[in-house]
Amino acid sequence: MGPLEEGYVREAFATNWVSTVGPNLEAFEKAFSELVGGLPCVALASGTAAIHLGLKLLGVGKDDEVICPTLTFAASANPIVYEGARPVFVDSERRSWNLDPERLAEAIEDRVKRGRKPKAVVVVHLYGQSADLDAIENVCTQHGIPILEDAAEALGTQYKDVQVGTRAPLSIFSFNGNKIITTSGGGMLVAHDPAWVAKARFWSQQSREPSIAYEHKELGYNYRMSNVLAGIGRGQLAVLPERVAARRAVAARYEAAFRDLPGLSLMPQAPWGLHTNWLSVFLVDSGATRDAILQALAAEDIEARPVWKPMHLQPVFADCPRYGGEVAEDLFTRGICLPSSSSLTIEDQQRVIDVVSRVVTSRSATRTPARQVTPGGETWASRGG
Ligand SMILES: *Cc1c(COP(=O)(O)O)cnc(C)c1O
Repeated sequence: MGPLEEGYVREAFATNWVSTVGPNLEAFEKAFSELVGGLPCVALASGTAAIHLGLKLLGVGKDDEVICPTLTFAASANPIVYEGARPVFVDSERRSWNLDPERLAEAIEDRVKRGRKPKAVVVVHLYGQSADLDAIENVCTQHGIPILEDAAEALGTQYKDVQVGTRAPLSIFSFNGNKIITTSGGGMLVAHDPAWVAKARFWSQQSREPSIAYEHKELGYNYRMSNVLAGIGRGQLAVLPERVAARRAVAARYEAAFRDLPGLSLMPQAPWGLHTNWLSVFLVDSGATRDAILQALAAEDIEARPVWKPMHLQPVFADCPRYGGEVAEDLFTRGICLPSSSSLTIEDQQRVIDVVSRVVTSRSATRTPARQVTPGGETWASRGG
């Protein structure tokens, strides 16, 4: 948080606009709209709320099916169930770790054959990397199925030089505390059709009819963002380019430090876009090594996490159909998210690098017959062979 954010929040306090109406909300939406090519948008309480209203706009309802990548955070899938519909999970491709267009085509064809044409496809841009939108759109257009882009992790991410979350008729973003910019908690729904944004705004404020009396013809939700938090968002938008550059610099430093280490590689950077590296995610040669790194980091009081656990492995979604899942499972088993904050200092990052290097080097050494043992008892992998 910086002085800009504080100024806008102070203004909300001073003018007493502390609820879900006010100048910060209007200004935040206006500034955000500029980021997404002038598309209309509405600021909401969370990215999850935005997905929920987006699915309602697409007419998702009871007993419908909605396709969703299995490798994602649970918030991509949960709102499907809020509407009484069922997620159908599809595997990732290796180039981007996002929805695999070929698997998607297979899944849609099979669902159609069973008389269950999916009502929508949720496309996630994971960890700041764009999915292959051209290929995915191609498949969906053939079948006349609309896409909702879950760009919660992808503000600043580009697909073919354009910000993601602008191609599909509906897209969402998140400003949760862990995302690239934050409002502490919040989300944004973006649509091509201004009438859809107006409808979402109406639903987000309890569907209160524009009359003096409290009249409600439709079910409503308390999903609107607060004017105080929109003030934080206004300030954060101004630093987005810096945050993207900082996240990419963190990933580049890890990549340079680990380049010569065996069995450790940065998440691929797909050729079609700009990866913000919202998180610096690495793939380790085995699940055992991944866990050893997590443990060694924890012992040094450094928090790191595995990659998202695929949805088809979640007990809450045990009954949902799925197409593939092997790629997602492999990425989950071997993937590790290292500390990636834009405020991470060079010194702190070096501590992470030292621990990871020590674990990876000693584990590969124990597997290589040719190794040197130093007097201190540390083992070093032989680089010569
Ligand atoms: C964070 C996240 C969401 C949900 O956003 P919230 O603002 O936390 O509700 C949805 N999808 C993905 C992929 C996310 O990472």
